[in-house]
Order: sequence, then C-alpha cells, then structure tokens
Amino acid sequence: MFELSGVTKRYPGGDGLGPVDLAVPAGRTLCVIGPSGSGKSTLLRLLLGLARADQGQVRFEGREVPGQDVLALRRRMGYVVQGGGLFPHLTAGGNAGLLARHLGWDEDRLAARLAELSRLVQLPPEALSRYPRQLSGGQAQRVSLMRALVLDPPVLLLDEPMGALDPVTRHDLRLDLRQAFARLGKTVVVVTHDLAEAVALGDRLLLLRDGRVAQQGTPAEVLASPADEFVARFVGAQRESLPGPGGAA
Ligand code: ADP
Ligand code: MG
Repeated sequence: MFELSGVTKRYPGGDGLGPVDLAVPAGRTLCVIGPSGSGKSTLLRLLLGLARADQGQVRFEGREVPGQDVLALRRRMGYVVQGGGLFPHLTAGGNAGLLARHLGWDEDRLAARLAELSRLVQLPPEALSRYPRQLSGGQAQRVSLMRALVLDPPVLLLDEPMGALDPVTRHDLRLDLRQAFARLGKTVVVVTHDLAEAVALGDRLLLLRDGRVAQQGTPAEVLASPADEFVARFVGAQRESLPGPGGAA
C-alpha cells in the first residue's frame, strides 16, 4: 500500500527522519514505536502528503504521494492527529461527520453512518450530541477515530490514538481497536510509544530512534532478538507491561 525508499526529512534544526526504507502491505497493521522526538509523527505526515521528503520516494498504491491531489488522498486515508484534534465548537457528531457533511451527504445517510460507527468504536450514541469538553478522554479519542473512519477509507493513520488515556481505558480501547481493525480489513499505521500496545495491535513493528530505523520485524522477532542495545533496553524497560507468562506476548 505504501512504499518508502531512501526517505529523509530534515527540519531546520537538523532533526527529522531517515533514511527510511519501508513497505506497508495492504490489510495489515504496522505499529511505529519509539521515544518522543524519534520521528514517528514525521513519518505519518510523509505518508499523508502533509510533509514532503527531502530525498527518496514515498509511494501510495504505486504512485508518488507528492503531486497527488491532496483532497483525493485524504478521502482514502483516515487520519487521527496526535492529541485527537477535535474542534471544540462542534459536537462529537459534528466532528465525526465533518468530512461526510463537506462532501454533501444527506442527514439520514450521515446519521446511519454515525450510528454504525458509534457501535464499532463502542461510543454511547447519546455522547454524539455533546461537545468535546463534555466527553471523557476515552470518549474523545473514540470520536476522533469515528471522524477518521466516516468515509470508510482503506487506510487509517493514527498518531498516538490512545495517548492521553489512563491504563484501564487504554486497555479497553486497545481491545476494541484490535477487533475493529481485524473486522474492517484496513491498512493501518498506528504510532505509539507503548510497547504493549504495539505488540497487541501490530502485525509488524517499526522501532525508531533519533529519526533512524532501529529495527523492523514482527513483534515476536523484536521481542526475541532485539537488533541492538537500544532496542534491548527499550524492550526490557517495558517488558513487565506485556501480557502472558514471563512477559512475552
Ligand atoms: P515523535 O512524533 O516521534 O515525537 P516528531 O516526528 O514529531 O517525533 O519529531 C522528530 C524530530 O523532529 C524531533 O526532534 C522534533 O523536535 C523535530 N521536529 C518535528 N517537527 C518539527 C518542525 N516543524 N520544525 C523543526 N523541528 C521539528
Ligand atoms: Mg509525535
């Protein structure tokens, strides 16, 4: 679905991402994981066409992302920005339905879609008429997911979709997400700095450090044979939080 070859992105301060080579196959979930500042959000922005690579190519469905119609791309990629990004002056339903309304969907069709999505993400339907400040953190993040899903895009790009949640809510939402991704057959790239979340959600992991790829592989590969000292420490520090006997998932 996505292919990156030799992609680098540098910001004026010298930080950024790359070089990165990466393939994201259709219908699978890739978890991008790494410490704060390692380039996770930059990677998502490159996939979305919101940032442009200095070098290398970012391809979506075989075509280079830069130069493609940004609006057409956005209909194919649901995006949850880090922090959720709900508009405070719109209700939850107004936020979730934003893109569909923009495309001129009639109210009956939109209401049916929002009802369907609120079941999928386990949001109580009455929450749709509340404003973001009247929602719990978990509810707000479910609304952000509904907004990303409303046009039923084949791709979901999620930047720390469970970022600000307490551990119990996180755990519940993680299980809901895993079921939803499996049921929908989407191509998903989800950013997290939580190893347990990455292991639970990802078919593959991409571990970033200082803008470089520290390791890519299946969760089992990364846990069983960390590529270097950094990965070993990163995995070791979070191992207790993993489910299953002895910590390994
Ligand atoms: P992460 O999402 O993993 O926390 P980011 O992709 O947001 O990391 O950022 C990677 C690095 O690039 C960080 O060092 C960050 O400070 C820097 N950076 C991100 N955006 C900008 C920007 N617009 N201008 C300058 N530096 C930036
Ligand atoms: Mg980030």
